[in-house]
Amino acid sequence: MGHRTVAFKWLPHARTDWQTFTDARKEAARLWNDMVVRHQRIRRLNWRWPSRRRWERWAKCRYPRLHSQSVQQIIGEFDEAIRSARQLRQKGDLAARYPWKLHRYRDVIYTNQAARIVGGDVILPNGGRKALRVHLPPNLILPGRLIEARVSYGRVLLVCEVPDEAHPAQTSIGVDLGVNTLIAATDGDQALLISGREAKATVQWCNKRLASLSAKQSHRVKGSRRWKRLQRRKHRMVCKARNRVRDITHKATAIVREAFPAAAVYVGEPFNDAARKVGRKQAQQVSSACNSQLIGQLDYKCSGATTVPEPYSSQTCPVCGCRQRCRRTYTCQQCGYSAPRDVVGALNILRRGKHGALVQSTHVPTRITYLRPRCRSSSGGHPARSSRQREAARF
Ligand SMILES: [Zn+2]
Repeated sequence: MGHRTVAFKWLPHARTDWQTFTDARKEAARLWNDMVVRHQRIRRLNWRWPSRRRWERWAKCRYPRLHSQSVQQIIGEFDEAIRSARQLRQKGDLAARYPWKLHRYRDVIYTNQAARIVGGDVILPNGGRKALRVHLPPNLILPGRLIEARVSYGRVLLVCEVPDEAHPAQTSIGVDLGVNTLIAATDGDQALLISGREAKATVQWCNKRLASLSAKQSHRVKGSRRWKRLQRRKHRMVCKARNRVRDITHKATAIVREAFPAAAVYVGEPFNDAARKVGRKQAQQVSSACNSQLIGQLDYKCSGATTVPEPYSSQTCPVCGCRQRCRRTYTCQQCGYSAPRDVVGALNILRRGKHGALVQSTHVPTRITYLRPRCRSSSGGHPARSSRQREAARF
């Protein structure tokens, strides 16, 4: 069974609903903060981290403004955060932090044991308080059975269970994710390069503006009226940048789906380890790149995405197998094969996914298409038609 999430905008109308909504979000933050503080104390005293069941027993009746299922969900999320931080630290990543931030508000999660749909409304119970009634938008169709509802400020997410669709995979493609080239995809015959310049520019713009706003904020008293005004501006801007990046990734993955319909995708693993070795500036670009978002979208738009380890995939010649470093264009010094570096990476990922190893072959992509994710022709046609195509028969 797969899952699909539907999101829509929502804020309460009535005053009592606002109160319930705010109280529930504050209560969720209080639970999270209590756990953060207790976790710090337990670590300091070198005690054993209690089991989830024990936390659930501890939290019983302490948070009267939350449904018991919501309490259990938040405890589960916290436990998961602790576990993943511990695993990362055991692997040697000392930059991984345990949850430390204290929140004022937090999203409230309702499971399907608590939330239910009654006549076009989702009913969300909140412990002792009156249940919230969220009116579903009229054109919204849920793709399956409701599993979970998540309420954040201005937005409701509904997670539904969908049956797995069996689509026969005719072709398989290799995908290399990157920064300057957001997606390089190839099926062995033709290659598609989607520019990531716009996403990169958005991330850089966001970071630059955040830095300047933070500098302005540092002259103000924390919590003052002017400080809050700047804080609001920060949130607005981050939200805008996030929406723009999401739009870009959606359009980029839609291009891949249309170019290679129902293909099985092999995608290079996001290189978080590599991000630590490169410089600061580059690391920011890499970590801000939306790789996991792209993999998730490719997974449901094509017929499944499999991650493949990608070391040396863009440094190894696909024809003769010699290894060398290069800049944007790969030119082999032994056999003279030349292609954009990302095409070489995608081709090697495809071969590693298919055969389990880097196999050398003279069968290389002959047609390379360059695209921008949000470039549309004036006639409103498909973006692929407005692109320039280049023959890459340089081999
Ligand atoms: Zn070569």
